[in-house]
Amino acid sequence: MNLDCSNCHSENTQKLSLIVNNGTMDNKSQTAGLGFAGSGLGLGVAASKGTSTSKLAKQYAEPEKMPVIGGFFAIMMLSLIATIFFGSIAIEVGVYIGIAVSALSLLNNLKSYPKQYASWDAKFICLKCSTVFTPKDNHTTNAEDEA
Ligand SMILES: [Zn+2]
Repeated sequence: MNLDCSNCHSENTQKLSLIVNNGTMDNKSQTAGLGFAGSGLGLGVAASKGTSTSKLAKQYAEPEKMPVIGGFFAIMMLSLIATIFFGSIAIEVGVYIGIAVSALSLLNNLKSYPKQYASWDAKFICLKCSTVFTPKDNHTTNAEDEA
């Protein structure tokens, strides 16, 4: 695999995920205290809250799963507020919307997220010109001189 920068052809490149993880102060244990963490259902909100990240890490942050349970509760909260204007029907509508949104989020987490993550994880960053690129396996211009 050719890991040279696609822009300036520098060899001074590094895996993007390593840089991002280095720039992320890990205090997830503190923030993901809602009891859902580790259930595998996501709750990606907790991961971003209270995490101090470097500018670079923020810009190229790891893709997050959509908050399935968090999303549902957020919609239920909105429905509760909506009852002030629309009466109890708002709760009923909110439940349907909440379930639909949660189902979509779950589907996204199961189907799209692994691809998003894989493409993010495959990326490299040039430490010279800070171009982010995905190294190519084949058809590189100087594939010959790879040992
Ligand atoms: Zn470069």
